[in-house]
Amino acid sequence: MTVIIPALGEAVREGDPRYIHRLRPAGILCQMKARARLIVAVILLILALSPFSPAVLSASARQQFIVVVDAGHGGMDPGGIGWLGVSEKDINLAIARLVELEALSEPELRIVLTRRGDVYVPLEERTALANRLGAALYVSIHANIHTDWRVKGIETILPDTWQGQNWRSLVLARSLQARLVAGLRSDDRGVKYQPLYLRSSRVPAALVEVGFLSNPEEALKLQSFAYQDRIARAILEGIKEFLGLR
Ligand SMILES: [Zn+2]
Repeated sequence: MTVIIPALGEAVREGDPRYIHRLRPAGILCQMKARARLIVAVILLILALSPFSPAVLSASARQQFIVVVDAGHGGMDPGGIGWLGVSEKDINLAIARLVELEALSEPELRIVLTRRGDVYVPLEERTALANRLGAALYVSIHANIHTDWRVKGIETILPDTWQGQNWRSLVLARSLQARLVAGLRSDDRGVKYQPLYLRSSRVPAALVEVGFLSNPEEALKLQSFAYQDRIARAILEGIKEFLGLR
């Protein structure tokens, strides 16, 4: 049999090495196998992306809670200024970002921060974000200041207009307060009602004061990464307890 090799434009007879090479069955089989593998891969990809795939089904069946976490103050508003000139806004942001980081291992939670840098966000925009997203809850992170440097501990604040109502926010506040006190082994100053912008929140909301920057001991702790991370994990525990997760 003679084969015409188009590229060469010449006839190659049996016995010629180029002839054997061209008709070697293994080569054809290899091509067929490669094509079959490609087809199988495309079918598997289509199945994986289809709404009936087990992976997609389990992801959509799993409920995900949107949690808005607010780092208090920012930009032109430093918040309280503590020992050695530490700004409350920086402590609040560091903790909020750690809450976001720690929540990466919690697939049920989607953390949305009101600010990611040293910028000022108007108070009404912060709660409006939670309202707009239909968040499961809103937590605002702050650090405290007192005229008496000896005062220290944790407190959680709710708007005074919610006193005797908005029980879900009270449950959230109690969960956050209990987890922070247990996690930080600090004084329990309780859940308090004060005039507060949080009243515009339509989702359960609470403001945590995670320590006093006016107290030298707590001011020092609040600036350490390890302590900020303990605060973040305690806040996450409070959030999960409120949402009934584990
Ligand atoms: Zn503050």
